[in-house]
Amino acid sequence: MRKIGSTKIVIATHNAGKLKEISALLAPYGVECLSAGSLGLPEPAETGQTFVANALIKARAAAEASGLPALADDSGLSVAALDGRPGVYTADWAERQWFEGEPGRDWFMAVGKVEGMLQAKGADASREAWFSCVLALAWPDGEHAVYEGRVDGTLTWPPRGSVGFGYDPVFVPVGHDRTFAEIDPAEKHRISHRADAFAKLVADQFES
Ligand code: IMP
Repeated sequence: MRKIGSTKIVIATHNAGKLKEISALLAPYGVECLSAGSLGLPEPAETGQTFVANALIKARAAAEASGLPALADDSGLSVAALDGRPGVYTADWAERQWFEGEPGRDWFMAVGKVEGMLQAKGADASREAWFSCVLALAWPDGEHAVYEGRVDGTLTWPPRGSVGFGYDPVFVPVGHDRTFAEIDPAEKHRISHRADAFAKLVADQFES
């Protein structure tokens, strides 16, 4: 597998939280992370139908524009009984486009929408769900590598817990009885879909 081969990479995100988290994970391997935002790179439209496609769109655009290897992530929640939805549209389901006033994200509305669709399937519907995280690494010459992480669980209702974000309060990971929003964040970071994808990237890039 091709190695990053550079001490500098671009993190294809305009989200300061993601940049900080990814920089901390790569710092022990001597890799300096620059953000797409600080380099003034445009944000491409996420027009893919899969997490892999969207992560690659972001990584390729940043690698081409910067001339450096670039890393992008894409993540979301898939619900078995809803044929994998919301999937790549996870963040979109929280958009309050039709509300008057400030646009923004309403996570309570989003988890309520998932729950409503699940209840409409009947009491026997499977409550199985999984979070996915895809990390795509792209080089300026067009080569790429993809690392896919996943954590399985079940959806609970009503939401529980106050730490975490997004769909955390309704997601109970397999082997636990608390939701991601009730579990200590350090523990979540050990078992999450993101941890799984990063472990695969680190094993491939730095430990083999
Ligand atoms: P993106 O990866 O920034 O496109 O965002 C995908 C969306 O998936 C986020 O806005 C969250 O709603 C959801 N998501 C991804 N990972 C998690 C997680 O660990 N907990 C809760 N929600 C998540």
